[in-house]
Amino acid sequence: MKVATWRGESRFSIDEVPDPVAGPGQVVVGIHTAGICGTDIHATQGLFPWTPPMVLGHEYTGVVREVGRGVNRGLIGRAVGCEPSYGCGECAACAAGRTSQCPRAVRVGGFAERVALPAKCVHPLPKSLDPVTAALTEPAACCLAGLETFRMPRAATVLVIGGGIMGLLTMAIARHRGARRLILSDPIEERRQIARRLGAHVVIDPSKESLRDRVMALTKDRGADVVCEAVGKPELVAEAIGLTRSTGYVQLVGVNPKGSRLPLDLWDVHPSICGTSTTASFTSAAPSVAARPTVAPSPSCPSSASSGWSPRASLWRAWKKPSPTPPPATAPRPSSPPARVRSHNPTFV
Ligand SMILES: [Zn+2]
Ligand SMILES: [Zn+2]
Repeated sequence: MKVATWRGESRFSIDEVPDPVAGPGQVVVGIHTAGICGTDIHATQGLFPWTPPMVLGHEYTGVVREVGRGVNRGLIGRAVGCEPSYGCGECAACAAGRTSQCPRAVRVGGFAERVALPAKCVHPLPKSLDPVTAALTEPAACCLAGLETFRMPRAATVLVIGGGIMGLLTMAIARHRGARRLILSDPIEERRQIARRLGAHVVIDPSKESLRDRVMALTKDRGADVVCEAVGKPELVAEAIGLTRSTGYVQLVGVNPKGSRLPLDLWDVHPSICGTSTTASFTSAAPSVAARPTVAPSPSCPSSASSGWSPRASLWRAWKKPSPTPPPATAPRPSSPPARVRSHNPTFV
């Protein structure tokens, strides 16, 4: 079979390699669609700590062609969404569901004609979901996993900085999780238009107006309840913290280049910082994808390719689950007293 091998910088080669074989408990999937994630692009730019040669691609779907010993033969011929990595299943990270943190995690690149994966990593697609759209499930699952690490504040105002695919998915999923007011900031008009179609109540062009002034005006100087940085720039992470209300949440969706430092006035931060966790769940991610099939994959997606998946339910069950009814778009929340001191206590997730 053929694979596309990344050889460093922007060099790729198409190589002939032996067909993968389904070992015990495994399946072989013939790839149908593999998305190009921003992380793949970052790798070619030297911004991600990956060492070539390797086969990239971690957002993919396909059809099961073979099954190994112990796997239900009924899977053969089924269209599936694929988890692109799996852990050893024995270490503390795996036990905690943090596959991406497993020191022995195996990542299976999807820029290939076929891949072999554990059967638990493939999830039959519902007939209503086409395999191209379904390739968005991995980035959607990453976004969902981040939002699942905290309880969405009641009637929350959510600010998303960056309207690439990850920012848009985060915004859409935040709405499904109960956010009352959605604000999205991006200098690109097309992205702001998509954000509006996906339910943004306010869109901001930060190249034309002050993001800070606008957000503070909209929130009566409190800051947003949740701020999601979906670009992956340290200076925007710092700005996100400054735009988060006391005891709010800062969600790091974008992947900052390794070695990045946060340029931050610590006056703005009361130390209540939790580590990020992107253990993803398909349980609700899939309906979000299915409900918005018009969102096209974008090479600007700064998805966390290092995140592992540990779906708590099968994709089939997930996609059968009806989407929650989104809250109605309403007027801005009632005003609250302005913060007397510009001190924040955000939680990083
Ligand atoms: Zn492990
Ligand atoms: Zn990705």
